[in-house]
Amino acid sequence: MAMQKGNISVQTENIFPIIKKFLYSDHEIFLRELISNAVDATVKLKALASRGEIKEDIGDLTIEILLDKENKTLTVRDKGIGMTEEEVKKYLNQVAFSSAQEFLEKYKNEAAIIGNFGLGFYSSFMVSDKVEAVTKSYQDAPGVTWACEGDPEYTLAENDKTQRGTDIVLFINEENKEFLEEHRIQQLLDKYCKFLPIPIKFGTHTETVSEGEGEEKVEKEVEVDNIINNTNPTWRRQPAELTDEDYKAFYNELYPFSTPPLFWIHLNIDYPFNLTGILYFPKLGNNFEVQKNKIQLYSNQVYVTDNVKEIVPEFLTLLHGVIDSPDIPLNVSRSYLQGDSNVRKITGYITKKVADKLSELFKKERENFEAKWNDLGVFIKYGLISDEKFYERALPFTLVRNVAGEYFPIEEYKEKIKENQTDKYDKVVALYTNDPDGHDSFIKAATARGYDILVFDTVIDNHFMQQLEYKMGGITFVRVDSDTVDNLVQKDEKQESVLSEEQEKEVKTLFDELVTDGGSVVVKALSPEDLPVTITRPEFMRRMKEMQMMQGMQFGELPDSYNVVVNTNHPLIANKLAGEKNKKKRAATAEYLYKLALLNQNMLRGSSLTEFINKSLEFLK
Ligand code: ADP
Repeated sequence: MAMQKGNISVQTENIFPIIKKFLYSDHEIFLRELISNAVDATVKLKALASRGEIKEDIGDLTIEILLDKENKTLTVRDKGIGMTEEEVKKYLNQVAFSSAQEFLEKYKNEAAIIGNFGLGFYSSFMVSDKVEAVTKSYQDAPGVTWACEGDPEYTLAENDKTQRGTDIVLFINEENKEFLEEHRIQQLLDKYCKFLPIPIKFGTHTETVSEGEGEEKVEKEVEVDNIINNTNPTWRRQPAELTDEDYKAFYNELYPFSTPPLFWIHLNIDYPFNLTGILYFPKLGNNFEVQKNKIQLYSNQVYVTDNVKEIVPEFLTLLHGVIDSPDIPLNVSRSYLQGDSNVRKITGYITKKVADKLSELFKKERENFEAKWNDLGVFIKYGLISDEKFYERALPFTLVRNVAGEYFPIEEYKEKIKENQTDKYDKVVALYTNDPDGHDSFIKAATARGYDILVFDTVIDNHFMQQLEYKMGGITFVRVDSDTVDNLVQKDEKQESVLSEEQEKEVKTLFDELVTDGGSVVVKALSPEDLPVTITRPEFMRRMKEMQMMQGMQFGELPDSYNVVVNTNHPLIANKLAGEKNKKKRAATAEYLYKLALLNQNMLRGSSLTEFINKSLEFLK
């Protein structure tokens, strides 16, 4: 065959300038596209061989990546099916060209195509002055070399290639010479090709091997191929043949040097869509933002992206691991993905699998489940709040922990406290603390009444409680310092006051003079056992304020509101205060009791605290 020249496509505009301008930061995807093609060609060859359509031995199928710094070329070499002259014309000039064109056309309007998949063979022109495809088909036909210098003109000539397969040779241009650096190519291979199903060789290294026995034993240096990928990644294997160690080792392969995961779910489904993968529950701790976006999305073992926001529900982005599905459309925008019916099915499937796994763990390994609640809880609560379906599935194994360290599923807990903690509106009142040490006196007082107190101390708990109140119904959460104990679970039991109305008024005036900014004084006849003065923070106002702070709202800030409850039945109030004739002494006692109450709520700070300490020391003298 004589050298042929031709125009790739006569009818349309020149796409090469557009390819070259293609999002600068995404230049690197060319390597993934070319290696994917090489893998496809090899997989096709294997399929032909297994169907008996190729008689001879197909030999070693390793794909090679070759760097030639001197000639400034990067070559992707496969031993796949190759192409005949007709196929080159059809696939490279027509199919590849028009799909690149289509891709670019689409890309103009869609800001974020997932993983920038689909530009294909022509992506090589993003980084090259010239591209050659040196190929020989598995069929009995002469080899051909196609070459193009980044314009619609191409040349095609017969070559004397004897080995079946295709070399794609890129003559890397000046602006992209980084792709002639070994470490850069290594980095890309690690990112995109780590789990491709055909071995990929990039360079060699020497290994020492020993030969012979005993006296005869000699050590020898041998050259060994660097195979950069694991062709049979754990998620593609059968769960039955895997041990816990295998799963942990794979986690380490994905995220070197990280804390081992709590447990995992092996995903494996063929119908109605194809999806495999392993999702790991990481040890979350409290800073879960950094744990996000660690799930890697693959399509037939080709890395696509680690931004799976549109594919898994928001709360599941806290999980780690791999999802591999050829059924997730990749050559579309992210906004399109969310509406895609396959993606919705996939999302539903993953949510269900996760809930099933948690449920199983809860039923079969209750103790283990409780022990891991610290990490699991954040995740489950997040799911309950953000996902309707997950709420229904997860409520039965959603736990709460009380100050005694006991765990209960929330529905069971509600039943348990119902008897003793139902208020006059027929609501079950669950008491909680977010700071067991800080609320010690409140907790002791409530416990003495036979109330149970939960610990809610994670950032997500405010939302979590609100969600339970809203969805479970018939339950309300009240922080243990929200009101006086006799009022926490509002019943109508009243204690008689030992003071006359006149005396009560006097006591109130005393405290009114002390309390400023946001506090209001309430005089109440409590039990003589209760504290003389208590500071309480009404649940509703406090929660509003906390929400406001969390959302970083600035405008119309809510005042800090609290009650100063004076117990007229406490001996110190009844006798020492009400009975004291000396005005000065009375004021001093009131102030001291008030400050003690502030101290108890960690509200006595700065110079007020110093002053109080000095006064107390003075007093001891
Ligand atoms: P896609 O891979 O999405 O089909 P490409 O533009 O990457 O699109 O490639 C177009 C076609 O060129 C492929 O479908 C295939 O038929 C052919 N091709 C590309 N690379 C090779 C190769 N290394 N070996 C054999 N055929 C190839």
